[in-house]
Formats: sequence, C-alpha cells, structure tokens
Amino acid sequence: AVTRTPLIAGNWKMNLDHLQAVALVQKLHWTLKDAKHDADSVEVAVFPPFTDVRTVQTLLDADKIPFALGAQDLSAHDSGAYTGEVSGAFLAKLDCRYVIIGHSERREYHAETDEVVAAKVQAALRHSLVPVICVGETAEDLQTHGASAVPVAQLTAALAGVAAGTEVVVAYEPVWAIGSGQAATPEQAQDVCATLREVVAESIGADAAERTRILYGGSVKSGNIAGFMRQPDVDGALVGGASLVVDEFAAIIRYQK
Ligand code: PEP
Repeated sequence: AVTRTPLIAGNWKMNLDHLQAVALVQKLHWTLKDAKHDADSVEVAVFPPFTDVRTVQTLLDADKIPFALGAQDLSAHDSGAYTGEVSGAFLAKLDCRYVIIGHSERREYHAETDEVVAAKVQAALRHSLVPVICVGETAEDLQTHGASAVPVAQLTAALAGVAAGTEVVVAYEPVWAIGSGQAATPEQAQDVCATLREVVAESIGADAAERTRILYGGSVKSGNIAGFMRQPDVDGALVGGASLVVDEFAAIIRYQK
C-alpha cells in the first residue's frame, strides 16, 4: 500500500497581520526544533491571509523553515478586471504550494457554489497549485441526508473535469464541527473520509485516490488529533482556531509523541 505523508494544515482565517504572522511562524519553528520534531514525518502547511503571504514566504526561505505555504482562496480567473481578486499566478510566484478552495465560510458568506468551487479548482491547477478542496455537511444536512451525501456531491462537482492522476488534497469538514468545539468522532470522520476516497477514485483514478491526502477538520485540538490520525483514511487535519496557538498547534503536529 502507498504511504501518504500526513499533512497538518493551519488555516489562520482572517487573523494575524504580517508582523504577528512572523512572530507565530518563528515561535512555531523554534518550538518544533526544541522538541526535535522530525520535519520529514509530517508535512506542516500554513495558510495566512493574502497580505501575509509574501512576508511568510520570505521568512520561510530566509530561515530554511520547512513549512509549506498556502493561501485561503484564489480567483477563478487568471488576470484582468476583477477588482479585489487574487490570481493563482500571483500565489504560485510567491511559492505557494497549496490553496484552500470551497471552505464552508466562503460557501456560506460569499455564496460560493459547487460551480464556483470547480472553476477555482481549475484555476489552481492551471498554476500548479495543489487545491485543498473543502467539503462538509451542515447540521441540517446531517439530519436530513446523513453525513456523506452532501460531501460526496460537493467533491464530485469539484473534481469534474480534473485529469486522472492529478494531485489534490481533500478536507472533510463537517460545518457543525467548525469552530464549535464539537468535533466529529474519529469513527464518523473515518466513515466519510473512506467514502470520499471512493469519490476520488471514481473521478481521477484508483492510483490517485491511494495517494490523495484526505484531512479531517472541525475543532481539532491536541487532545483529539491522535484519534483521527489512527483512522486509515484520515491523513491529516485542517486546523483553524488551534493553529493560532503555537504550543497547541505544535502538539497537534507532534501527535505521535
Ligand atoms: C477550519 O476553519 O477549517 C476549521 C476546521 O476551524 P476550527 O479548527 O477552528 O474548527
């Protein structure tokens, strides 16, 4: 079987200006170094606000800090008259490896439909960015349709038109678990993540599905991460609130210890 390098991703949301970003990244790096964390065992990625991306890129590069960089969104377009939008081309130039697409907060507050999400996935791929495709059901969806129906539909739509073998990351984030302190159980996460891996297999091939990291997100903390990581189809975590607290995020990254 393929071994997938676990990915622990910190989504800062609209928090930390560029100076605070420097302080957090440096402290996180030192904390992990002091703990003699093996940087190859787990991939760490940070997703700052756009205005911090250049600063964080410079810091990672100057201090040889082994974190991957990503953005929280991108435009579906590459350039032109789209005031306020940010192109994937710009993100790629700043050494972003990843871009979050379809986070539930964007679906909810910015009316991002499955069609918009699919167009953004295509935009990311045009610029060699790895899309971190977020899917998840609301509490109401869970009641009405069960856990996996909405995430399956969202992922199927996002992967339509993606070529076989393409590298993507999937984040299963039940909306009711985000920022609520009420995480899914490891078994609930495993169930949906296993189903999502089947969707990846049907959409972009069995080999790609074997290699694809599927993350769980929603109130991940140092106290519950190990349970998620023990699940065979959970390959990491997308962490919001806890990624802003250095000791907590470092403990999540060091979940094996
Ligand atoms: C998120 O925003 O992707 C998230 C999972 O948030 P939190 O960890 O705060 O629930």
